[in-house]
Amino acid sequence: MSAIDTLWEFLAVAIGIIVVFGGIAVGLMRGRGGRSKELPPTPPSSAPGGPAVEVDAPPEGAVGTIERPAPEVLEPTLQPEVITPEPVPTPTLERPDAPAGRLRRLRARLARSNSALGKGLLALLSGGKLDEAAWEEVEDTLLAADLGVAATTELVDSLRTKVAVEGTTDEATVRGWLREELLTLVDPSMDRSIVSSRVDGRPACVLVVGVNGTGKTTTVGKLARVLVAQDKDVVLGAADTFRAAAADQLQTWGERVGVPTIRSDREGADPAAVAFDAVKAAAEMEADVVLIDTAGRLQNKVGLMDELGKVKRVIEKQSPVDEVLLVLDATTGQNGMRQAEVFSQVVGITGIVLTKLDGTAKGGIVVAVQRGLGVPVKLVGLGEGPDDLAPFEPEAFVDALLD
Ligand code: GDP
Repeated sequence: MSAIDTLWEFLAVAIGIIVVFGGIAVGLMRGRGGRSKELPPTPPSSAPGGPAVEVDAPPEGAVGTIERPAPEVLEPTLQPEVITPEPVPTPTLERPDAPAGRLRRLRARLARSNSALGKGLLALLSGGKLDEAAWEEVEDTLLAADLGVAATTELVDSLRTKVAVEGTTDEATVRGWLREELLTLVDPSMDRSIVSSRVDGRPACVLVVGVNGTGKTTTVGKLARVLVAQDKDVVLGAADTFRAAAADQLQTWGERVGVPTIRSDREGADPAAVAFDAVKAAAEMEADVVLIDTAGRLQNKVGLMDELGKVKRVIEKQSPVDEVLLVLDATTGQNGMRQAEVFSQVVGITGIVLTKLDGTAKGGIVVAVQRGLGVPVKLVGLGEGPDDLAPFEPEAFVDALLD
């Protein structure tokens, strides 16, 4: 082999090596450049509640690298967010006002509407000239305040005698006489307590009756608050099944102070059955007292007698009824008296609740109704607020009239 042949052979091998290595280098560069252009496929998510990216995606327009965590890492971080419960508001129970002395605290309301009575009388009596016409005016004022004929006559006779004997119409003296006379008529000796503690190892049973619209359901709710303020365990019975909203209304009153309400979800359910269930539940809960709201449809006296009589009889199958409170609207005057008579014939009333005394100048109804029925006024309603029901205190009442 010549030297020229050897040179050609060497050149051919060198060119071959350059071609092979050049090809490898170009292939490698292509491979790197391709990966930088293509996004890897989105990993499928197995997390509940939708794809993980929806939860962790940055807000639109955010700049930065989106990192896609692997599904197995996502699952535990997702779960707490999905199952975190909505915060449930814990109901705060209201603390009702202490009932003792409420009448004095609320006396401005009474005085405002009854000032006609007290101020009118004082002006007449201390005016100096008490002739027949003046005494007649005194009588008219008392009658207008719904004191009733008998009580008015008694009061005027007694005052006339005092004025004649003492020979004075000095305002302070006359005010003293008037206070004394009115107090005698209101009768501080009557027992105005409400049976609300356990009797013979069972809950006290209080039935609340009255014509619809007098404020009966409201009164049951307010009375529950009075008793809760006295640390009593109270159960409510919604036996006014005639009025659709009455049970809801009562339940709301109860819930505000943590008192359970026994009710039927069916409108028009048998009120006696609801009353029975309420008394039974109160016994099982070892409550101090059960308050039962009833319906009062006066349009049909026979129907009312039948219904209320039945409610009472059915309750008495398991517990005596200790208290029957009649709710009367003070603004209805003599009409209220007639209602009272019907109810007392049906169920035998032990106490009266006089509502809406804040809206009337007829405070004399307290005397008239007590005399007419022979039972005491035990509570008075002086407004629509939850604690506007006051135990009746004769002195505070008379003082408010004369304020
Ligand atoms: P029910 O049909 O006898 O149960 O009557 P409610 O309890 O529903 O009351 C009828 C209306 O009388 C409601 O608007 C009460 O807020 C209102 N009411 C109750 N008691 C009083 C009160 O003492 N004063 C005033 N001003 N309103 C009262």
